[in-house]
Amino acid sequence: MTKRALITGITGQDGSYLADLLLEKGYKVFGLRRRTSVPIMENIQHIVNEVEFIDGDLTDLSSLIHAVKVANPDEVYNLAAQSFVGTSWDQPILTGQVTALSVTNMLEALRIVKPTARYYQASSSEMFGKVVETPQKETTPFYPRSPYGVAKVYGHWMTVNYRESYNMFACSGILFNHESPRRGIEFVTRKITDAVVKIKCGLQHELRLGNLDALRDWGYAKDYVECMWLMLQQDRPDDYVIATGETHSVREFCEIAFSHVGLDYTNYVVTDPKFFRAAEVDLLLGDPAKAINNLGWNPQKTTFKQLVHLMVDSDMEKAKRVSY
Ligand code: NDP
Ligand code: GDP
Repeated sequence: MTKRALITGITGQDGSYLADLLLEKGYKVFGLRRRTSVPIMENIQHIVNEVEFIDGDLTDLSSLIHAVKVANPDEVYNLAAQSFVGTSWDQPILTGQVTALSVTNMLEALRIVKPTARYYQASSSEMFGKVVETPQKETTPFYPRSPYGVAKVYGHWMTVNYRESYNMFACSGILFNHESPRRGIEFVTRKITDAVVKIKCGLQHELRLGNLDALRDWGYAKDYVECMWLMLQQDRPDDYVIATGETHSVREFCEIAFSHVGLDYTNYVVTDPKFFRAAEVDLLLGDPAKAINNLGWNPQKTTFKQLVHLMVDSDMEKAKRVSY
């Protein structure tokens, strides 16, 4: 029997990689897509004919009920969110509506239409926020430092609550930062790799960044979507930290990215107070032991250096295509 999956956030980084993975595995894939004035297709152009799109918005319960009826899914991956921490201070209420409350919309749609479907919630290491314990694991107390982090804590606990209240197969993946060539351009990794290429090509002369000392546990998005799928294949629903177990600074990311094209980052990177956060998360470092033991997760599949290199190489390829 062909398995059916519904993915929210399919146009984003993770949604597009997860769709690739599930299509490879022979799933019938449905993607919730919201109406935009022009289509946002960059990440999914290569699979538009293989995915069945359903129009809807996470804030609109009736559209989610409709989506679950149409897709009749065995598995639901709730990846849609206002996902950028910086924007969450500019739009805290929208972030709360989309990233927090809409998780309940999705869970309610499932409870009403198909409570037996397995559910994945995209939780985040931003829930840990201020350092309480390192490395951070499933039992580490949350102390979010942004409206985004606060919203994710709500979504996380609602997922746990629906599992405990209604016996639903609901899992929460506490994923640490994961990046790729499909990462949004406002995130620091992609902002750096895009700038490295433009500087190398003479199209840009400096790169303005905020806190270079922030430490993140960065992994590769393509590796991480496998864990989402694995969580829904287990006998019991549970919550998992997904991380590499290594932490690196923004400065280190710059160093490796610039040197990959033969440049010294100190000649180009300028610190700009505009990009500092109202409240910073200084250090994220995850302990993936539970995922290693239960899911067979390999946290070192793609190394930090390989990740930086593949992102720079991809932006370089894109730049070459545009210039031809
Ligand atoms: P992206 O920002 O790349 O993708 C977000 C997706 O959500 C897009 O498809 C976007 O659609 C969709 N979306 C936003 N608002 C709505 C809405 N109101 N209704 C329906 N769809 C909406 O995020 P990622 O792929 O990087 O992340 C996936 C999930 O994982 C997110 O929930 C994120 O918060 C979480 N996460 C990500 C981490 C990371 O490092 N990447 C770490 C931990 C958690 P559109 O294209 O139309 O804007
Ligand atoms: P986040 O961990 O989800 O907030 O992912 P980001 O990629 O947006 O930010 C990662 C870290 O990089 C944070 O600690 C930011 O403060 C830091 N940072 C430093 N300069 C910048 C910048 O110019 N843009 C962004 N987005 N982050 C920056």
